[in-house]
Amino acid sequence: MTQPWSTRGLANEHAHLDKGMLVPGVAYADAPPAVRGGWTREHKAKFTKQNIYDRAEAALQSMLRYGTTYIRTHVDVDPLVGLKGIEALLDLRRDYAKQAVIDITAFNQEGFERFPETAELLEEALAMGRIGLGGHTLTDSDGEAHIRRLFEIAERNGAPWLEFHTDESGKPEHFLMPFIAEESLKRGWAGKVYAIHCNSLANVPDLQAEKAIELAASTGLHVIACPTAIATRAITRTKQLIQSGIRVSMGSDNIGDLFNPLGGGNMLQYAQLLAYVQRFYEPGEQRALLDMLTLEPADAEAARRLAELGSRVAYETDRTDVLLAHAPRPVSIETAAALNSP
Ligand SMILES: [Zn+2]
Repeated sequence: MTQPWSTRGLANEHAHLDKGMLVPGVAYADAPPAVRGGWTREHKAKFTKQNIYDRAEAALQSMLRYGTTYIRTHVDVDPLVGLKGIEALLDLRRDYAKQAVIDITAFNQEGFERFPETAELLEEALAMGRIGLGGHTLTDSDGEAHIRRLFEIAERNGAPWLEFHTDESGKPEHFLMPFIAEESLKRGWAGKVYAIHCNSLANVPDLQAEKAIELAASTGLHVIACPTAIATRAITRTKQLIQSGIRVSMGSDNIGDLFNPLGGGNMLQYAQLLAYVQRFYEPGEQRALLDMLTLEPADAEAARRLAELGSRVAYETDRTDVLLAHAPRPVSIETAAALNSP
């Protein structure tokens, strides 16, 4: 008889709850990412705080059903949606505080060039609570300038962490992961910067990749892999990154929206996808995937809140092959915070 696998819960370290569950209300159509980005902007301009809350709650509940207890979500901040997403997510974080720890990152999805007013809005968002700052290295014509500007805003406003959608295209000419690592070191941000995707790392020459990984490891850069990126791009060199000692976690990325209409928030399913695509087949490799889902949060305050939550999530088996092949729902999910509530 196999033993149950019991964990503090799974971590989804990169999501977009504010844009979650847009589909099926909005019909998905396949088109280049830039076109779907345009459609998303049209819908975003019509978002209300309540509408964001309701969709984010549906996405969150889907994650909770599958044993997720720690979520890092980006939330768009720009003149189209203003601060409505941040307001909605702060409410959601409060309302679900007994079931999960949610970290919020104010995200410049659209770039400074398209909407210069975003800079001011991001500063306002950072003043609304313990909120991190997020950018995207491909949204402005000068990726390095975009990164430097985000560091400056984060420094001026005392942001607790910085995150970048990094090298999402997978193209070698967009490779900015080493630049982010260098800036982190130079500016004293080691251990507080997250690079999401890092897909170009997969397509640069091996020697260049090795040097970049070594640099990232020495600067405490955290990497978040999102396996669904395989639908349109490459996936980063996950095994090599793990072997280097870099903290590598996993994210669902978009859930039920115009970027990914299918995401269901089951982290074991994303691990399964990564297992197939990058052949995490040996027992130790399978275990490494589960480790990616159960890492201690890198942010000390999040780690403290997670300990306080006192969650316990149990599965029917501890066999990694069964967990990854079937991505089952947990047999029980409990939190001390909920049990102790009046
Ligand atoms: Zn993302």
